[in-house]
Amino acid sequence: MNIILLGPPGAGKGTQASQLVETRGMIQLSTGDMLRAAVKAGTAVGLKAKAVMDAGELVSDEIVSGIIGEALDALPLTTGVIFDGYPRTAAQAHALDDILSTRGRTLDFVIELEVDEAQLIERIVGRYTCAKCGAGYHDTFKKPRVAGVCDVCGSTEFKRRPDDNAETVRTRMAEYRAKTAPILPIYEARGLVRRVDGMADIAHVSAAIDAILGAMG
Ligand code: ADP
Ligand code: ADP
Ligand code: ZN
Repeated sequence: MNIILLGPPGAGKGTQASQLVETRGMIQLSTGDMLRAAVKAGTAVGLKAKAVMDAGELVSDEIVSGIIGEALDALPLTTGVIFDGYPRTAAQAHALDDILSTRGRTLDFVIELEVDEAQLIERIVGRYTCAKCGAGYHDTFKKPRVAGVCDVCGSTEFKRRPDDNAETVRTRMAEYRAKTAPILPIYEARGLVRRVDGMADIAHVSAAIDAILGAMG
């Protein structure tokens, strides 16, 4: 099974993807995570992407489709994939069609997390992750069970993204509205879109996604 999680910054794509990884053994392909890893490693891709990401703008279609193709090549066909944060433009959506078909994969669902943009700023400025294992948390909505200790790995080191500030978020939202939301009709025409209330609490959103995916995967 191959699915896309679609929604603006802070909609809960990463949170729900890691849930699916845990419950269904699928693989999460997050272009944001892969780009941040490239920036950290100082690769050619990372050097190109850093300033664009810090500004909240979109990295080039060629770069992100390239890294998605490479990541898929490393996976067995039987492993289900969750695309998190990709595609984000019409050109990426078309590239993904080619990337999937040349590898014998098909797209099963595009799950749109419907959210109230006004409330996303709070989600994003409160977001942080475990510096060791990457588990995601929130100052208000998803605190670790023991304050200051990662639930998953026990680490006490956490980090925040440089682009998770109120100003950059506005640019990221505008990019979503202008370039990403317009790709939904492509998938609607194919009958692939399923909508989920992304403002519900995390467990309810997971349950709604689970109901859509059913016994598949
Ligand atoms: P969010 O969690 O807010 O949805 P991501 O981690 O997916 O953000 O992306 C962070 C940044 O990485 C984006 O603002 C953009 O600069 C870059 N990026 C990630 N995925 C893509 C993509 N598919 N196309 C272009 N740029 C991307
Ligand atoms: P995205 O990957 O779409 O940018 P995340 O999954 O990183 O979004 O979620 C953004 C922040 O909001 C995180 O700190 C996460 O813990 C929190 N969060 C995610 N889903 C919900 C939800 N349904 N209700 C409240 N907070 C949430
Ligand atoms: Zn951890």
